[in-house]
Amino acid sequence: RFIVLEGLDGAGTTTQVERLAAVLRAEGHAVLTTREPSDGPVGTMIRQALTGRLGLPGGAGPLSPETLALLFAADRTDHLTARVLPALAEGKVVLCDRYVLSSLAYQGASLPMQWVDAVNACAVSPDLTLFVGVAPEVAARRRAARGGAPELFEADEAQRRIAKQYVAAIKLREKRERIVHIDGEQGIEAVTDASMKEIRKLLGRKR
Ligand code: C5P
Ligand code: MG
Repeated sequence: RFIVLEGLDGAGTTTQVERLAAVLRAEGHAVLTTREPSDGPVGTMIRQALTGRLGLPGGAGPLSPETLALLFAADRTDHLTARVLPALAEGKVVLCDRYVLSSLAYQGASLPMQWVDAVNACAVSPDLTLFVGVAPEVAARRRAARGGAPELFEADEAQRRIAKQYVAAIKLREKRERIVHIDGEQGIEAVTDASMKEIRKLLGRKR
C-alpha cells in the first residue's frame, strides 16, 4: 500500500512519517519510509537547487519554474521505479513524505496547475494521502523554532500562497484518489493517532 503525507513546510510530515512507520512496524508490517525530493540523482540535484547550491559548470543561474517542475516529475518517475514500486511489489507499506500534491501546490504556485498535473500523468496514484493541515502562521512559527536558513519557497509570503494552492490541488485530485485532511495543529501524538485511524481503514486491522 502506497501512503503519502503532505503539508506545508513545518506541518510535521517528516516527524509523522517516522512515527507512523514505528507504529506499523510494531504491528508487524514491513515498511519503507521515503521522501521527495528523493535521495536519487535527480532528487539530489533538486535539493541543491532549492538551497542555491546547484553549481553547474559555467555557473548557470537559478532554474526556471518549468525546469524545476520537470525535474520534480523526472525525480518522481525515477523514485517510483527505483524505490517505491519494488517495495510495493514486496508487499511493503510505503510511507512517502510529499508526492504529486506537493508539485501541484509548490510548482503550481508559479505555473498553471493543469500543466503541472499533465506532466505528472505517469505517476501512479497513492492508495491514501494524508494532508496534515496547519495554518501558514503556525507552520512559520515552527520553521522559525527549527532555525537554519530558509530554503526556496520557505518565505512566509510564498507559504501563504502555497497553502491556497494546496486547497486547489486537493480539489483537483480528490475526484481521482483518496485524500484525507488531518488536523496538524493538534499535539504530535494526536496527529499520529488520527493518521493511524485512516491507515488502519486502508490496511485492515492486524491482530
Ligand atoms: O519536505 P522538505 O522540506 O524536505 O522538502 C524540501 C523542499 O522542497 C520544500 O521545502 C519545498 O520547498 C520543495 N518542494 C517543492 N516541490 C515539491 C516538493 C518539495 O518545491 N514537489
Ligand atoms: Mg522543508
